[in-house]
Order: sequence, then C-alpha cells, then structure tokens
Amino acid sequence: MIQIKGIAAAGGISIGAAYKMGKEEFIIPKVAISDSDIPVQIQLFEEALIRTRREIIALQKRISADMGQEEAQIFDAHLLVLEDRMLIEEVISRLKKDRLNVAFIFQEVLKKYVSVFSKIEDEYLKERIADINDVGKRILRNILGKETKGLGDLKARVIVVAHDLSPSDTAAMHKRNVAGFVTDIGGKTSHTAIMAKSLEIPAVVGAEEATIRINQGDMLIVDGALGIVIVDPDEETLESYHTAELKLKGVTEKFLSVKDLPAVTVDGNKIEINANIEFPDEVPAVKLHGGEGIGLYRTEFFYMNRKDLPTEEDHYQAYKYVAEEMNPYPVIIRTLDLGGDKFLSQFQLPHEMHPFLGWRAIRFCLARPEIFKLQLRAILRASVHGNLKLMYPMISGIEELRQANKLLEDARSELKAKGMSFDEDLQVGAMIEVPSAAMTADILAQEADFFSIGSNDLIQYSLAVDRANEKVAYLYEPAHPAVLRLIKYIIDSAHKADINVGMCGEMAGEPSLALILLGLGLDEFSMPPQVIPELKFLIRSVSLKEAKGIAEEALGFSTGTQVEEFARAKLREILK
Ligand code: PEP
Ligand code: MG
Repeated sequence: MIQIKGIAAAGGISIGAAYKMGKEEFIIPKVAISDSDIPVQIQLFEEALIRTRREIIALQKRISADMGQEEAQIFDAHLLVLEDRMLIEEVISRLKKDRLNVAFIFQEVLKKYVSVFSKIEDEYLKERIADINDVGKRILRNILGKETKGLGDLKARVIVVAHDLSPSDTAAMHKRNVAGFVTDIGGKTSHTAIMAKSLEIPAVVGAEEATIRINQGDMLIVDGALGIVIVDPDEETLESYHTAELKLKGVTEKFLSVKDLPAVTVDGNKIEINANIEFPDEVPAVKLHGGEGIGLYRTEFFYMNRKDLPTEEDHYQAYKYVAEEMNPYPVIIRTLDLGGDKFLSQFQLPHEMHPFLGWRAIRFCLARPEIFKLQLRAILRASVHGNLKLMYPMISGIEELRQANKLLEDARSELKAKGMSFDEDLQVGAMIEVPSAAMTADILAQEADFFSIGSNDLIQYSLAVDRANEKVAYLYEPAHPAVLRLIKYIIDSAHKADINVGMCGEMAGEPSLALILLGLGLDEFSMPPQVIPELKFLIRSVSLKEAKGIAEEALGFSTGTQVEEFARAKLREILK
C-alpha cells in the first residue's frame, strides 16, 4: 500500500481500478510494401478516417445529451483535423514515394506536424497540438484495427489517472463511467479542478508522480477532500474508507435536507447563497441544489472550443435563458475574462511571458471595445427578462472601472438609438481580485453598485503564487493573514459605502473558511452548485455573533496554517 499526496480538487471518496490515460503507445512496425499494396493501404487509411469521424460524431452526440451542446462543440476542432487536406495528401504521397505501411507513414507525418506546430509562437496553433495528437491516436488505432479506449467508451467505472487532463477530456467524463480522477499536474483552482467539482467527480490534482507510481488496473482510493490517493490499499484501509463513504453519504443526505430552506443564521441573519456556472445548462443543477441565484456566470466559456465569435444574438439568447430560468433570483453575469489559463483561439493573442499578469480580462475588453460592447449590449437587452446584474473582472483601479462604465454607457445609447429596451437600473459591480483594487476598495465602492471578491485570483496575486502550478501550491493559502486582512478591508470599505459584497472564488465554498468570511461580514457566497447544501447547513447551524468571534480570533494568528487549524476545529464543534 502506498499513499500519494496531491491537491484536493473535488471532494468525495471513490474506490476503484486505475485507468491510465495518455500512455497508449502503439508499437508500429516499419514494413516495406509492393506497388500492388499501395491502393490497399490507401483504402485502409481512408476507412480509418471514416471510422474515426463516425466515432467522434457519436461521442459528440452523447456528450451533447449528457452535458450540453457547448461541451460537445469541443470536438469540432477534432473533426477539422480529419478534413485537413494537407495532412491527408502528405500521407498518401509519402506512401507512394516511400512504399512503407500506412500506419508507419501516418505516425511519421503526425510527428512532423506536432513538432512544427510546437515551434510556432502562436497560441491558436499551439492549442491545435492537443487536438492533432488526440485525433491522430484515434486514426492510428483505427488503421491498426485496435479497440477504442476513449473516456466516453469506458465500460466499467474506473478512476482515471493522467499526467494532465484538458478541458475537453474533463468534459468527456461523465459520472456513469468515471468514478474519480488523479492528475500529476494542476492546482486547486485550475480549470480542470473547477470542472471536476461541477461534475461531482472526486478528484486529486498535482499528485506529482501519480502516473509513475500507479499501474494500469491498480486498486485505488481517491480521497478528494484530503487530496490523497491510496494505491493498493490493505483490508483495514479499504474497510475504513467504505465506512467513510457510507458516512459521507449520510452526511450528504443531511445537508441535502436543508437545501431548499433559506440560509439564515441561528440569530436570524439572512445570507445569500448563490452558484457559479460556466454554461447555461447548469441552471437545473443550481436549482436542484437549492441555489438562490447565480453569483458568477463565467461567460468566457461561451467563446471556448469554437472557431467563430459568438454574435450579439448568441449572447443575448444565452443570458435571456438564464435570466428567465432563475427569475426572480439574481444572476450576476461576469463580462469576458479571457487570458491567464483561459486561452481563446479566435482572438489569436500573442504569446506572453506571464499571461496571468498580462493582457487579461477587462484589460483586453477595454482595448477591444467592439467585442466588449457587443457583450454589454446583449447583457443589457437580456436584463428585461429577469434579475440581471453585471460585473467586470480584474479591475485594478478606479480608472478602469470608469472606462468600462463609459463603454457601458455607449452600449446603452446604441440600444436606445435602436429603440431597444433594457433595465435602466441594472446593477454594475466590480470584481475585487487584484491587490491594488482591494487596497483602494474604499475608492471603488463610491462608484460600484456591489463587489464580488474573486479570491482565486486575489490569493494568487497577493501571495505571488500561480494558481495552476502544483510546484508552488503549498504557498497558495486562502487563510494567509495577508489574504484575511485584504478581505476584511474590502468588506469594511463596501459596508461603509453601503454596498453589498460577495465572494465567488473557491474559498467561499470551503466551509471552515466560510465561517470566517461570515464573521467578517460577507453578504453573499457564490460557489459550485453541489457545495450549496453544505454551506446552507453550516449557516443555519451558527449565529452571526459566534462567527464574528471566530473571525476576530482568526485575524489574530500569524500563519495561515494556524488559521486553518483553528477554523477547522471550530467547524467540527459547530457541525458536531
Ligand atoms: C476568482 O478569481 O476568484 C474568480 C471567481 O474568477 P476566475 O476563477 O474565473 O478567475
Ligand atoms: Mg478571477
């Protein structure tokens, strides 16, 4: 039995056999062929292309039914590779010239493509490498007549073990066949980890040597809450985890029993508990888990995995749907936040040394007003269909807020000129996720209708820790005194100016930390939908007075570890 420590990405326990991904190497012999074999080999290649196309379309259909159309669109890029004339013609002409088996030739051409693309300083082309590799493997498998082993085709429930998982891999998972996953790289707030939470799949990321230490078929226990993977557990450990699994089920049921009740503290203070979503079709999950609104709608996912840009009408329809479905509950739409670890190929952005510090979010939108205003007009138009609010990401100071509001004003005028209606009182908030914004929260509060603390970024920027890098994950401490002091300053400044303040980073959904945030006076908590019942249960079990005492004590510690230990002990006491 060995234990691998990683980073807790999505809670829950899963027990099952390891399914290692990405290690599927084919041994391809180099075989000379005769002239008469050439047409046979070409036919083999063409049939493999057709079969691959069929497989991808079937996979798309299933994903579309399981998770929605946008996730299914991820595979459009794969279909494009299949239609790449240059690639196909190169294989056929080399086949004729070199007179070697098509599997060997195809593999060589594939290698050449990947190596050429890797050298180009262009994010769009770089992103295509994963697609080429992915489809290339499928084609090769079909030339060789091997069984498909995609994630969507798994027969038994397994625990996926991979060096890294792309968003498209994660989207292809569904709970039916993937019981859990473990990756070598990635941080707690990386895109993959956030997706795992919304899929409710227990996951451990950044388990550095997982793919080396775990063998295909090994029995695994994934403890997504502690960030631990146990390989080949002994009877006793297995037994205790089976018991813990049952207990967890019981606890989850207890949490679920309060999901439709309001989040009111024991001493009668109502707290807003909202959900974070990436796609409109997550709305049913929000309702199912008792979400009272949407505190963060990450709209950049709308731009992902597609070749064209969404039109104003596309945006409008999506926002209208979410506004209507959630009405009368509030929906906070966050304007485009591209950059960092979220690359959007359509914009063909130049490569940057430090993308998280670079041309990101509101900075990009202010520089590209035509793209920004298109989204703003759509949000304004949709605002008549429900209780919409909007907020800007990555505001670093008052001037950016003013510039964004100026473009919003232009968007309003443009709609008025066309005789289109919108909610004149639409609330406009600023995300506070850059330390300079946190330290000038008193100034920003004069001109923002509300604040939403983006703790994922606020922590990364204030502690200088890349949120997606597992090497420095030990320094990524939400309970660090510096972070708590910044949050306290933001909340106090907002309240002095009489505006509400919420948090939509992962920290808001961590029960022990939420206890401190409650005590600091946070008005609204937004989190992945599945965490809502637990947070409601917690808030209904504690008084605001007690939480204030906890927050005060927490601010007195000098290290994040002390704060964490203290908060966890308090949480245990409260939840018994
Ligand atoms: C955050 O930074 O906390 C946040 C909610 O935004 P994102 O994770 O999309 O950067
Ligand atoms: Mg952010």
